[in-house]
Amino acid sequence: MKTPTSSGKRLRFATLAALLLSLGGGGWAFVFLINSNTGLPIKWPAGGVPIHIMLGTDRELSDGSTFNASAAVAAEMWNEVLGSVRLMPIQTAGSSAQNNGRNELAFASTVYGQQFGENTVAVATGFSQGNERIESDIIFNSARTWDSYRGFVRPGINDIRRVTLHELGHLLGLDHPDEAGQSVTAVMNSRISGVDWLAPDDIEGGQSLYGPPGIPANDQFANATPVTLSEGRLTVTGHNTNATKEAGEPNHGENPGGSSVWWRWTAPAQGTMALETRGSYYDTTLGVYIGNSVSALTTIATNDDINPGIIQASSLSFTAIRNTTYHIAVDGWDRDTGGITLAFNFTPATAAVPVILSPPASVVAPQGGTATFAVTAEGAGPLSYQWSFNGTAINGATNAVYTINGVSSANAGQYRVTVSNAAGSVTSNPATLTVTTPAPPPPVTGGGGGGGGGGGSPSAWFLGALLVLTLVRLRQLRARRA
Ligand SMILES: [Zn+2]
Repeated sequence: MKTPTSSGKRLRFATLAALLLSLGGGGWAFVFLINSNTGLPIKWPAGGVPIHIMLGTDRELSDGSTFNASAAVAAEMWNEVLGSVRLMPIQTAGSSAQNNGRNELAFASTVYGQQFGENTVAVATGFSQGNERIESDIIFNSARTWDSYRGFVRPGINDIRRVTLHELGHLLGLDHPDEAGQSVTAVMNSRISGVDWLAPDDIEGGQSLYGPPGIPANDQFANATPVTLSEGRLTVTGHNTNATKEAGEPNHGENPGGSSVWWRWTAPAQGTMALETRGSYYDTTLGVYIGNSVSALTTIATNDDINPGIIQASSLSFTAIRNTTYHIAVDGWDRDTGGITLAFNFTPATAAVPVILSPPASVVAPQGGTATFAVTAEGAGPLSYQWSFNGTAINGATNAVYTINGVSSANAGQYRVTVSNAAGSVTSNPATLTVTTPAPPPPVTGGGGGGGGGGGSPSAWFLGALLVLTLVRLRQLRARRA
């Protein structure tokens, strides 16, 4: 979930990072690409991000382009690899202004009155609200010499395209990998180099925030990615960019979401499964279900935030029953999307605790009929059983089999059984009792014919139908009076 913001403090301004020519530049040490409150990256919401390019069209550069045209190419280079956002270059003229609701690329001699650092060629600025970037400008140092060319760095001449590529990386939410102690080939490194393209590390960074183009393979419940884990920890990655919600799909973490992706795991043994999405690049929601149809799932556990509004990763744990397949959905709060890190941690039950070999199955019973739930468990005896209905223990329901005679709609709901011995206990997944009402009989015809059986008295069904009709009539009368 999102952190509530008070209107007075909702904007956060940051000078993102400066591109330096050589060691020692300094001056722009404050980097706020992460929302320090939530620990999540600050990034653009899904959709188009207009960028007003005001660098000029009057000079023909070495590669035949203009400053505006060369910078627009850099934007398209990012667009080719990103899924949920699209930079929309608008070539225009004029000078940039801070906090004017427009994202602007312009030459200037200062960064809104603040001097450029000694070796700084360009600076990206940013305004944000919560985890969302809402404005970013890129100011190119007009005291430097600029051109547009490919390949090796020409001493004293800055290439507008690669610097724009780098600064757009900041605008999108990326930081300098070299300053984080990594040694990689990247246009996002803090020093200008011969890299004038998006290196794999740059693309990976951009896609961790916005996903790659296209729809993830595990968008649909039926295409859930299988996970095999018999014990211990396993981390999988993915993203929910451009993912959808299916008809009848439950809400995960009590939020409608709308961009879920799925994994599935079959428990090889009984035990405790803990799931968490720490390390994901957006505000996740998480849900675990049993069932074979996305529109008829039984919820096992669901979570939005580890610490509501603060630690926006999700976590949950549940008792896994042997041979049961669990479907795991990861969605985003209010359709938030991005890269997902999902950790599975499975601890098999100790040998002494009862093990459910065959959990109770869901039952469909007609009104007035009989419903039977049964569990098969093994473990050091004696085993004791306690059935519950919608979370409340049922008096006297303390055997491996629980039968309800004369079922009514009040019995519909979820049944679980807890099996205990001296070492501990295990509670089954919920089994659902669905109570059906038989269809009314065909209308009785006047002729009587060879009907036999019933004699003169109306059947119970017929009386029931009459009662329903009377109630409908009463409601109609009431509605008319209102
Ligand atoms: Zn930079």
